[in-house]
Amino acid sequence: MRTAYFDNNATTRVLPSVQAAMIRVLEDGYGNPSALYQRGRQARQIVEDARGAVAALLGCRPDEVIFTSGGTESDNAALFSACPAGSHLVVSAIEHDAVLNACLVLKRQGVQVSVVRPDGNGRLDPEEVGKALRPDTALVSVMTANNETGVIQPVEEIGRLVHDRGIAFHTDAVQAAGKIPVSVRSIGCDLLSLSAHKIHGPQGIGALYLRKGLAFRPLLVGGHQERGRRAGTENLPAIAGFGAAALAAGQGLEDGSITRLAAWRDAIERHLAQQVDGVAINGGSAPRVANTSNLTIKGIPSTALLVALDRQGIALSAGSACRAGSRRPSHVLTAMGLTAADARAAIRISLGKLNSQQDVDDLLEILPRSILELRRNPSAA
Ligand code: PLP
Repeated sequence: MRTAYFDNNATTRVLPSVQAAMIRVLEDGYGNPSALYQRGRQARQIVEDARGAVAALLGCRPDEVIFTSGGTESDNAALFSACPAGSHLVVSAIEHDAVLNACLVLKRQGVQVSVVRPDGNGRLDPEEVGKALRPDTALVSVMTANNETGVIQPVEEIGRLVHDRGIAFHTDAVQAAGKIPVSVRSIGCDLLSLSAHKIHGPQGIGALYLRKGLAFRPLLVGGHQERGRRAGTENLPAIAGFGAAALAAGQGLEDGSITRLAAWRDAIERHLAQQVDGVAINGGSAPRVANTSNLTIKGIPSTALLVALDRQGIALSAGSACRAGSRRPSHVLTAMGLTAADARAAIRISLGKLNSQQDVDDLLEILPRSILELRRNPSAA
């Protein structure tokens, strides 16, 4: 059976250029980048080339990029480093669990945490963030774009007001990179998280941008890798793949692929609204990244619909992959004011640049039909 993949916010397929870069390293690049002989120096060059590509994507200096094991580690490292015991931290209610669960650990260590809620469209008001700041606030952490709704947050305004108060600013840009331009200088952030597998790179590799001059307490200690900021022998094949993915993500911002995703996303939403009653676009009135559509289909639990779609070769999810299987409704949607029932009836369609028109045509045909069938016969699931 043909399958059409619409869960690109959960993970993306690696690009051929990424695969080629990784295979080159696996076949003949097995040096330790810390070694001084030729093979080590070649491995070091692979790491530094990839670092340069990631830095170019973010508009920062290469020495401000630390390779990590992914978005989760980058988020953890940022929060644990910037929030000493006794300090105050401000986060949004719609952050990824990599931030929110780090907050729980920090709370146990004596950090006070204030949580700012979004409006009904899933967007934060910078003024509300401003109101939460205190003289002892050490860090503000607000994501650039939300993984469930795709809503783009006003991080540049938040960055400005946070800096005016001399407070550090972290943004989780895992779901923004490759979808909108992400420049650390325009955002004015001190720390930023990235993950390769959301931009057609491999899983298990990410990066933390650390503004030059900002004090940092490493999460991992050991050897002097990453200038003493992240110990452990570098994951060379993954870093090479990440470099190729970062390069392609930068090019993708300029080659028209984002416009194509937005047109597909809009066509899907329009078509569904015409074919089916009771569809609400969560975050639909806010600025969103082009690839993401979060839809509540009134009265149909998402689990039933996802199973029906999967049987017909359509892969999409109900929201965050990390909470799949959780019985709790999405914390993002409930923070936006949705009832638990409406949040449980939400599905997330996340397109990617490897989708084809055929994938979209299949979705346009199968999704409304499956919804109408489930409405007629709820026990069919
Ligand atoms: N932050 C956001 C917004 C995400 O969507 C994700 C992954 O879904 C992460 C962090 C975690 O990234 P990783 O899977 O690389 O640990």
